Amino acid sequence: MAFAVEEYWAEAMKTAIGIDLGGSHVTAAVITDDGTIHSQHERDLSDLTFERVVAVVAEVTSAARNAAPAKVEAIGIGSPGNIDLHDGSVRYSPNFGWFGVPLGKRLREALGMQVFVGNDARCATLGEYHFGTGRGASDFVMLTLGTGIGGGIVADGELLLGHGFAAGEIGHHQIRPETGFICGCGKIGCMEAQASGTGLIRHAMAVAPSFPRSFLLDPDKGKLGSKKIRKAAQTGDLHALAAWKNYTSDLALGLANVIAFTNPELIALGGGVSSAGDYMLDAVRPRVDELTTMAPKGTTRIEIARLGNDAGQVGAAMMALQGGLDKHG
Ligand SMILES: [Zn+2]
Repeated sequence: MAFAVEEYWAEAMKTAIGIDLGGSHVTAAVITDDGTIHSQHERDLSDLTFERVVAVVAEVTSAARNAAPAKVEAIGIGSPGNIDLHDGSVRYSPNFGWFGVPLGKRLREALGMQVFVGNDARCATLGEYHFGTGRGASDFVMLTLGTGIGGGIVADGELLLGHGFAAGEIGHHQIRPETGFICGCGKIGCMEAQASGTGLIRHAMAVAPSFPRSFLLDPDKGKLGSKKIRKAAQTGDLHALAAWKNYTSDLALGLANVIAFTNPELIALGGGVSSAGDYMLDAVRPRVDELTTMAPKGTTRIEIARLGNDAGQVGAAMMALQGGLDKHG
C-alpha cells in the first residue's frame, strides 16, 4: 500500500530540497537527511539577471517539490558570492554581477516557505563533511578547483563562517603577488588565478612561447581546456608537462599555506581538475610536505572529494535541515 510506505518514510526521515546555483545551470535535488539523493532537476541559465534567475530557481524547485516522495520540510540554496546569513541576501557576486540582491526573501515569496541561503562552496564543504570524503574528520578543508576556487573550513566540527561571512575564501589568498596572473577579484597571483582550472590554462599559455609547434595551441585539435592539458601531460607532451608542473607547484604552495593556517586532518580537492585523481595527488603531496615547516609532516591528508557535483546540493539540503548557517542571528 503506497500510503503506508509514505507514512513510514515521513516518520523515518526528513526531506529537504538542496539547490546548487551555478553560472550556466541550476540543479535542485530532493534529499533525505541520510544524504540520499532521490531525484535531481536541472535547468539551464542563459540570463543571469536577478529576476530571471529567481524565476528559474523557483520553477525548478517547484518541480523538485512535486517529485518529492514526502513533505518537503526545508529548502536550502548555495549561491556564488558573499551571502548575508542574517537575511539570505547576496551582498556581492562578481560572476553574476549581483550587488545586494534579496535572494532568500524573493525565493521565500515565490515558494511559500523559508529558503535558507549559503555560499555555494561552503555548502559543498558541508556536503563532503557530512556524507563525502570529509566524514569523520572534525578539522576539514574543502577546495573546489573549477573555473575559480571555492573553499570552506570546518574547525572542530563547525563550519567557519567569519565575522563578515567570508571565512573560507581560500582562493583569494595571494601566492604569486609579484609574478602571477590577474585574478577575477582584481589582485595579482591569488591561488584561484594560479591553481583553478582556468589557472591551468593560463599556465599553458604562459609557457607556450617555448613550444611553438605544440598541438595544444592548434585550434583544429579542439579548444584548450584544463582536461585536455592534463591528459596531454599524462601522455608525456612536453608543453602540457611544463604547464602541469607549474600548476601543481602553485597548487601545492596554496595547500601548504592552508595547512599553516588551519592544520586540518584532511583537505579534500573537488571541481573539474580533481578528476585527475592520483595523477594530481602524486604531484602535489610531496611538494606540500616540502613546504610544510611547522605542522608535523603527514598530519594533513590530501584526498579527492567524493561527491563530485552533488556536494553542493547535499550540503544545501543539510544547511536547510539544520535551520540555516547563522546560529546567532
Ligand atoms: Zn582573487
